[in-house]
Amino acid sequence: MQPKDLLQLAEQFGSPLYVYDAEKIQSQYNRLTKAFSKVDKLRINYAMKALSNVSVLQLIKEMGAGLDTVSIQEVLLGLHAGYDPEKIFYTPNGVSLEEIEEVNAMGVQINIDNLSILEQFGTKHPNVPVCIRINPHVMAGGNTNISVGHIDSKFGISIHQLPHLVRIVENTKMNIVGIHMHTGSDILDIEVFLYAAEILFDVAKKFKNLEFLDFGSGFKVPYKKDDIETDIEELGKKLSKRFNTFCVEYGKELTLIFEPGKFLVSEAGFFLAKVNVVKQTTSTVFAGVDSGFNHFIRPMLYGSQHHIENISHPKGKERFYSVVGYICETDTFANNRRISEIKEGDILCFRNAGAYCFSMASNYNSRYKPAEVLWMNGQGHLIRARETFEDLLKNQIPLSITATTV
Ligand SMILES: *Cc1c(COP(=O)(O)O)cnc(C)c1O
Repeated sequence: MQPKDLLQLAEQFGSPLYVYDAEKIQSQYNRLTKAFSKVDKLRINYAMKALSNVSVLQLIKEMGAGLDTVSIQEVLLGLHAGYDPEKIFYTPNGVSLEEIEEVNAMGVQINIDNLSILEQFGTKHPNVPVCIRINPHVMAGGNTNISVGHIDSKFGISIHQLPHLVRIVENTKMNIVGIHMHTGSDILDIEVFLYAAEILFDVAKKFKNLEFLDFGSGFKVPYKKDDIETDIEELGKKLSKRFNTFCVEYGKELTLIFEPGKFLVSEAGFFLAKVNVVKQTTSTVFAGVDSGFNHFIRPMLYGSQHHIENISHPKGKERFYSVVGYICETDTFANNRRISEIKEGDILCFRNAGAYCFSMASNYNSRYKPAEVLWMNGQGHLIRARETFEDLLKNQIPLSITATTV
């Protein structure tokens, strides 16, 4: 997508605005499938919590992907988008047995991540094909917010509990068809990934009726210039080879599954916000935009660096800015960032706004959630309207008392 296209979309649909480039999602999908083309049975399940607009789900379905979901509501959205239940995986954590049973009844593949629920589910439904989520205790990335494989993590069944896990499966005679791991976002090093994969293979040997191995996700995409990214091609080469030899040892052709979220949609997304005010203080120049952590929380929540460009005046003299929002709390998008000289009314474009941006938006400060546009074949399609005042009142029930009754 070109900056002039984005600028035109901001004019047409207003700001703040999310824009997603369909072609980029497709090219990331192709890159991943190509990297693993040596694996006979490959399946990509899009982790929809990254970006859950139904039109985006439909687009990704057309590419041939399945879905990875973490709540019954995501399952319902996936079914609504037209996915077959067999193409949906359900990988929740900390949900009730009732919700798992409800999702199972829809024909969706369930994935269980703790021994308590596993024992209860296996006792009640020994014939249902179940996948189990293992925690290999691998630290991936340095940020504890996003590294879920380490020892204190709440995710998955610890590999140290393997004897107990095997006992439950033997006692209940339940049907384990898959082993899963997801070591968290931002795997910097493919050696770490391959190390965790070995642990998964070891666990897999204990189960005789497997149909698939699910390696989760955690692929890192670049957020700024010269950022580290997962070398998918290299990982594809090494892991495919290892996976194929494992299948020979196991005596059966298994399906290899990945659940990328960020990898598919992060770089396809652009967030456009308008500069309301340029404010000079004694220490910095603030550029205040018509948004905040209500629409775009990643910089504040994770300290993630999203590249910012002044697409209204891209060729001006560069100056240092603190880009902040309009929320009545500290909501700094970027500190001390070099940006082409900003004038009030300019449109700033934030990169890597496809994953965990709109899907984490809220109505804090009673602001409306932004509109979303899908850019396809050189055209912008509105796929979610900007909220209105009615949306803020929806579900609120006026109290039917008057001042005199208080
Ligand atoms: C969030 C999540 C993913 C996707 O992670 P990304 O870093 O966005 O690729 C995959 N699997 C599970 C179980 C998840 O919870």
